Amino acid sequence: MGRVWDLVVVGAGPAGSAAALGALTARPRARVLLLDRADFPRDKPCGDGIAPHALDVLARLGVHGVVDGYRPVAGLRLAPPAGAPVAGRMARPAHVVPRRVLDARLVAAATARGAVLERRRVRSLVREVGRVLVDGEVAARAVVGADGAHSVVRRLVGAGEPGRVALALRGYAPVAADAPDAQVIAFGPGAGPTYAWSFPVGDGRANVGYGTVLGTGPAPTRQGLLDGLERLLPGAGAGGRDWRAHHLPLSSHRPRQPDGPVLLAGDALSLVNPVTGEGIYYAVLSGALAGAAAVRPGDPGRAYRRSLDRALGRHLRHTALAARIVARPRLLAAGLAASGRDGRAFDDLVELGLGGGTLTPRVLGGTLRALVPG
Ligand SMILES: Cc1cc2nc3c(=O)[nH]c(=O)nc-3n(C[C@H](O)[C@H](O)[C@H](O)COP(=O)(O)OP(=O)(O)OC[C@H]3O[C@@H](n4cnc5c(N)ncnc54)[C@H](O)[C@@H]3O)c2cc1C
Repeated sequence: MGRVWDLVVVGAGPAGSAAALGALTARPRARVLLLDRADFPRDKPCGDGIAPHALDVLARLGVHGVVDGYRPVAGLRLAPPAGAPVAGRMARPAHVVPRRVLDARLVAAATARGAVLERRRVRSLVREVGRVLVDGEVAARAVVGADGAHSVVRRLVGAGEPGRVALALRGYAPVAADAPDAQVIAFGPGAGPTYAWSFPVGDGRANVGYGTVLGTGPAPTRQGLLDGLERLLPGAGAGGRDWRAHHLPLSSHRPRQPDGPVLLAGDALSLVNPVTGEGIYYAVLSGALAGAAAVRPGDPGRAYRRSLDRALGRHLRHTALAARIVARPRLLAAGLAASGRDGRAFDDLVELGLGGGTLTPRVLGGTLRALVPG
């Protein structure tokens, strides 16, 4: 059987690398094994938009330079289903870094700190007294499931399937000559946030795509998603390639983290922002907290649930409410109009969509005022 690892992390995306780093920050001599079914570098379908908040978490873990070589993008343009778009500058810029690059840099940071990376597709998990057995042969005191939207660990601990899920398709397309130097998001009509995006990478390409929340009907086809992009951002996908779709488990319907030695982080815990589809910040934050809880004394599950609630509980409650508000196109348009009139409401909206913000009185009051004619 070999040695017992202090922590086995399943999945080496942002949540998994952050979990390894969180554990090694809390206990530098911890024995941490990072497992992924893929070799790195590898692609992951994503908009590649990285909120500054994610970089803050990484800096606290002692990781710097993951966006080096990519310029900051401060411009943000938000278009409601009907009416005038709102354009502004984010108080702190975001970066657009292809996940092929970002995730490999994060894995390198984790292994440089002592995590051992192995390629393995995890299939089973058995809890025994004092340890967890992964695939019948890897023993660990604690396991972090950071294996993404279709998490095997999540299923194996009985946390069930994600409650509410979006589906999004992304590609890389040449930037149109008249495209604004900004992250562009155009919302579609209909219940449940649906939007198209174009995020400039800075190398002549933009990451473009379209996502929609899945309901009870049939899921949209690849062509349906491409049509959605063309409808909301005409021409943005022209000449696009590397089209890939993936699910986004939304935090408005996340499972409860159980007590015990098996923790879930990132998409495996359904931590994607239900309004914006942003998930990288929540992945690195939850991963870091899970990794730290896993190697500290006490019940890891309970400690992690508490630390996650302290860090994100209020925000998660507010984004769940915000998701219900933006499902109504009239309210969405009013909210965007409010942020167009008041720069501070714009900042609040960005914090709600990308970071740990809440529905502030400025946003709610401005939305109500925008609904009242005259
Ligand atoms: C089209 C699209 C656009 C998006 N745009 C953005 C955006 O612009 N900004 C943003 O912040 N978020 C965005 N998101 C969300 C973001 O991609 C996710 O929230 C983020 O990747 C979650 O990170 P993670 O580490 O939890 O999971 P992942 O990044 O999915 O990593 C999971 C890892 O686990 C591995 N794995 C899976 N199963 C196993 C197994 N059984 N055994 C071993 N390894 C396994 C996988 O190979 C993978 O490396 C987008 C999502 C989609 C689908």
